[in-house]
Amino acid sequence: MTTETTAPSNFLRTIIEDDLKSAACKTIVTRFPPEPNGYLHIGHAKSICLNFGLARDYGGRCHLRFDDTNPAKEELEYIESIKESVRWLGFDWGEHLYYASDYFEQLYQWAEHLIQQGKAYVEDLSAEEIRGHRGTLTEPGKESPWRNRSVEENLALFRSMKAGEFPDGAKVLRAKIDMASPNLNLRDPVLYRIIHAPHPHVGDAWKIYPMYDFAHGQSDAIEGITHSICTLEFESHKPLYNWFLDNLPVPARPRQFEFARLNLTYTVMSKRKLHELVTQNIVSGWDDPRLPTLMGLARRGYTPESIRAFCDRIGVGRSDSWIDMSILEECVRDDLNERAPRALAVLRPLRVVIDNYPEQQVEQFEAANHPQNPEMGSRKVSFSRELYIEQDDFMEMPSKGFFRMTPGAEVRLRYTYIVRCTGVVKDDNGSVIEVHCQYDPDSRGGSAADGRKIKGTIHWVSAGHAVETEVRLFDRLFNDPNPDRGGADYKQFLNPLSMETLRNCKLEPSLIGSDHEIRYQFERQGYFRPDPKDSTPSNPVFNRIVTLKDNWSKK
Ligand code: ATP
Ligand code: MG
Repeated sequence: MTTETTAPSNFLRTIIEDDLKSAACKTIVTRFPPEPNGYLHIGHAKSICLNFGLARDYGGRCHLRFDDTNPAKEELEYIESIKESVRWLGFDWGEHLYYASDYFEQLYQWAEHLIQQGKAYVEDLSAEEIRGHRGTLTEPGKESPWRNRSVEENLALFRSMKAGEFPDGAKVLRAKIDMASPNLNLRDPVLYRIIHAPHPHVGDAWKIYPMYDFAHGQSDAIEGITHSICTLEFESHKPLYNWFLDNLPVPARPRQFEFARLNLTYTVMSKRKLHELVTQNIVSGWDDPRLPTLMGLARRGYTPESIRAFCDRIGVGRSDSWIDMSILEECVRDDLNERAPRALAVLRPLRVVIDNYPEQQVEQFEAANHPQNPEMGSRKVSFSRELYIEQDDFMEMPSKGFFRMTPGAEVRLRYTYIVRCTGVVKDDNGSVIEVHCQYDPDSRGGSAADGRKIKGTIHWVSAGHAVETEVRLFDRLFNDPNPDRGGADYKQFLNPLSMETLRNCKLEPSLIGSDHEIRYQFERQGYFRPDPKDSTPSNPVFNRIVTLKDNWSKK
């Protein structure tokens, strides 16, 4: 992977630098712990860049650990896509791929240990009754009638739970901590529940599964994680995280730190909502280019570099805040502006005939692939009598300040000649379907021999050479910065124009057959790439990654 060692400092870097200096730890070990119950999104990218970035910058290592404690929602498909997305982002866990489910036997032993110490008991109350006994922030909870079972009875029942002798939900194992604790997470939290479902990683081996809280810290301890970094909502779980470490014979003592999650405008990131958009066919799949999933962003054409730059740019802090979508878009523009070859493409074509240009003549013009990077070379573009220009580069009745093509006025055709519009052809409805021009043969290259100034330059494609393609214009999926606001149905804010398919776009032929991984700047239009799924050499399809300028801030 490329090494960016210029990541800005943050409170976690300060903590790690102090720990390394004071020898509180020799090697830092972090982890990225996704639950394989969905696809990764841009919020996860923040956590990945943080955890893998710290390990990279401080000579440590970062584990990829699947937090797979709930077989009801987890699937192999998600495991595979998560690995693919982490690799795509440019990170490598090496040999450090782990599954919380690989620790199920050890976790089970530790649960028995707690029972033996009188610190856990089997609960017969239903989930609803447990909730009813829980109390509130201002009132203590109520102790369960099953709280004082003997160690022997608890052990026997827990072993029967493990043996699959009870149906789902009949019993749970709870820690015996303090029903009056001001921290609700310490009011005898559930440690194990019964789930008769096969597990994507360990198959049919288990009928009971540990809760996230019982698995997470101990998994960190087993792996020797030094800095266990999670989002702020886990702050109130930290006393429980530490209680397990204090009360179990764990081999190491990880510490938990919290940071603010990424909230991004004009999108949703909850897995439940992403699931819903996919299963209700509101989008085409988890890799729909409008989704904030890493698969979607990748398919649209976002580069891993631009997403890493975004994560560096937004930084890591401890207060919740919103990041505007325009920042993400700006990061991909900055990246592609540097390295995307330029090309000519007409998305909504209007036919132009240059009446004084010889009928069979074709001239080749040299066009630079990048205006600032001559090392990116150049290509030849063919110019002929019949061309296409963009429909909105022509106005029969120009508005003030319109310097593109209009009857009587001159305009420069990019790289080639100055032309003057002499007339139009209209259809029965009065719409202009063809524009006629005269070119100035003495303006080869685009400047007038007599030095007269030409204000406008427009792009074009030779009609006889153009390749017809489909182009998909993607825009934000929601037209409200916070589709979740007020608890209203977020789907009412779906942007009906989030995808527009244009079917007879005219592209310069050099774009055809090009590598899917190349992103182009279509001059004056934005950044585009061939859709990796739907594009074929005989039937090319291009995705718009992002427009050239932010046209949302004006709305
Ligand atoms: P859910 O709890 O709905 O399943 P999740 O997004 O928390 O969703 P996980 O798979 O548990 O899903 O997330 C893996 C890691 O990514 C966690 O450590 C979590 O803190 C981090 N993460 C998830 N969403 C964000 C976000 N928006 N910003 C930063 N980190 C995030
Ligand atoms: Mg989670």
